[in-house]
Amino acid sequence: MEQPRKVLLTAHRNPDGDAIGSMLGLYHLLRKLGHEVAMAVPSAFPEFLDWMPGVDQILIHDDQAEACSPVAEGAEVVFYLDFNDIERIDKLGELCHATEAFKVMIDHHLDPQDGIADYMLSEPSASSTCELVWDFIHLMGWEALIDCRVAECLFTGLLTDTGGFKYATSPRVYRLAADLVEKGVDDVVLQDRLFNSMTEKQLRLLGHALAHRMEILDEYHTGIITLTKKDYERFEIARGDTEGIVNYLLKLRNVKLAAFIHEQPTITKISLRSKGDLSVQEIAQRYFKGGGHKNASGGYSYIGLGPTVRKFKSVLPKIKDQLDRVAELPDPCHSTGKEAPHDAG
Ligand code: 5GP
Ligand code: MN
Repeated sequence: MEQPRKVLLTAHRNPDGDAIGSMLGLYHLLRKLGHEVAMAVPSAFPEFLDWMPGVDQILIHDDQAEACSPVAEGAEVVFYLDFNDIERIDKLGELCHATEAFKVMIDHHLDPQDGIADYMLSEPSASSTCELVWDFIHLMGWEALIDCRVAECLFTGLLTDTGGFKYATSPRVYRLAADLVEKGVDDVVLQDRLFNSMTEKQLRLLGHALAHRMEILDEYHTGIITLTKKDYERFEIARGDTEGIVNYLLKLRNVKLAAFIHEQPTITKISLRSKGDLSVQEIAQRYFKGGGHKNASGGYSYIGLGPTVRKFKSVLPKIKDQLDRVAELPDPCHSTGKEAPHDAG
């Protein structure tokens, strides 16, 4: 990318902090290099990301379909960020697929679709796509252009996809966090913006979900929260309002598998989370047409709320052994690092 190019950055439906963070991090950097950069996502992003520099430039296909067509048609390079299956960007995928543009995929989900891009940086062991965008920037030799603004965008994805360093971490994640702080990001301010930004309505909805819509199946170390269409009306639930509810189930000592199942106008959506070696990606893929990561996946069904809950419960006896194994509390000290010194005496 020596000459100025027309670039289109895309990220998945219901974009999260990692999708928007990786997109904006690259946006600011590529503009510094002189490229003409557009951004498009299928659907709106949650309000807690409103403050991010450049979000007002992101086209949302659901609302601005006419504006998306020309940028896709004119693009010379298209980036697929934080997804690895073209279906995850709906109609935008058809637009991008139809172009001659060079396609670059940067992503950390399992099982990338064959032939989705001309160049793929696909690494499921990475915490976040933002971590891989950092690598990509270094591979391209652009690291001198990482300023505080680029760093805060990448830090956003790192923080949101690790739940504030609670999962998907590695020595690398902490080193990268240190590098990003060195670029000038105030991590305390950033964490406050990302994690203490609920509206009163969202907190009340969470209270309702925990008090009235939670079921714990102790025998299977599993928790389920459901929300009905009526709940959606009563709480006027909008996109992003249910974000993170599923994670509260994992706060219970005995819960290792969590499901949040909620009715949307045409589909019933399921969000799955797990601990340890239990793969919710396999459950999402096999039973709910979905996918994601080992410990965080999602999917959907067309059979309605009750039948979807029953289908999920019917999976539990099949994985009871795995659930019991994960429920044995592991030792946090999984590696001693160095051999103990030899006793000369
Ligand atoms: P969430 O439960 O927060 O919506 O999504 C958790 C993870 O699962 C994310 O990485 C997301 O990309 C993935 N995911 C959620 N829903 C779907 C889906 O319907 N299909 C696929 N392939 N992945 C999904
Ligand atoms: Mn991600």
